[in-house]
Amino acid sequence: MPRLVQPTDEAIAQAARLLREGQIVAFTTETVYGLGADTFNVSAIERVYQLKGRPARNPLIAHVLDPAQARQVVAQWNERCQRLAERFWPGPLTIVLPRGALVPPAATAGWSTIAVRAPAHPLARRLLGAFGSSISAPSANRWGFVSPTTARHVAEDFADVDDLVILDGGPCEIGIESTVVDLCGAVARVLRPGAVAIEHLRRVLGKVEAPQITAQAASPGTWARHYAPHTPAELVDGSSLRSRLDALDAPVVVLCFDADVVAAPHCSIVMPGSAKVYAARLYDALRQADAMHLEQIIIETPPQTQGIWPAIHDRLQRATQGNEEQ
Ligand code: AMP
Ligand code: MG
Repeated sequence: MPRLVQPTDEAIAQAARLLREGQIVAFTTETVYGLGADTFNVSAIERVYQLKGRPARNPLIAHVLDPAQARQVVAQWNERCQRLAERFWPGPLTIVLPRGALVPPAATAGWSTIAVRAPAHPLARRLLGAFGSSISAPSANRWGFVSPTTARHVAEDFADVDDLVILDGGPCEIGIESTVVDLCGAVARVLRPGAVAIEHLRRVLGKVEAPQITAQAASPGTWARHYAPHTPAELVDGSSLRSRLDALDAPVVVLCFDADVVAAPHCSIVMPGSAKVYAARLYDALRQADAMHLEQIIIETPPQTQGIWPAIHDRLQRATQGNEEQ
């Protein structure tokens, strides 16, 4: 089993030492838990890919303390990035820029660009401060499966990895992955919706292109099926939920807003109506539903579409795509 560690000063210093030695450390961020490696250490980066089972063409996000650390991994830091960083860092916004000359290509899966983000979680910031350089980290889950929002989720996903240290900073406050915005072209483009809504980016940058919900070659993490539980999952509108459930004989588990709609033999997990609380709860609810090993997971489509709801809809779409690997 991995080792869950409370983030004392000593534990943070030890984790920074492990990173320097080329080891992997899982740590809390405000979005989801990350599986961290030294950005400049090729064998540590390779271990992250191997542990995750992540496809070799899928680049990692470099986590930095601030714009000064970001400049060490990007080739150019222009006025647009500076404005975004001033407004949204530290926080759930990842910026894609041309990769710096000193960064090994392995850290970006060979891509000439690099995704950078300054996380806001105090544990992540203490670790970055102690390490003193960029930490590349994908979400700390096996590839394609639901992202982890607690240290226990990480320990369950990597139960067979005895040398993994997990710094336990408690449950993630945001609970879904960062917004990814590509600043390499003339017009900024959102590759993945997240907690920073596109409206907020437009307020800072003016024109921003919206993401395509289906697979985009520009960001492999946006494959149609991703963030998915093992149990087949289906999205159903609230208005047809009752009739859909009546038509099913085998028991299913339903992520719904009102438990009264769900009658035996089906089970319910009641979801919060607030977008913030829904996002923070979603991955734990999907994991809980998965662990029930029922025939299917039915998810009531949240009716709202503003703010961070588009990011939630994006994750729900991907969690409920067909089972074919993409
Ligand atoms: P994860 O770390 O699992 O949250 O996934 C990282 C996300 O950032 C994925 O959607 C990646 O495709 C995306 N990403 C990372 N690096 C780049 C890059 N250089 N260009 C475009 N997207 C990137
Ligand atoms: Mg991920």
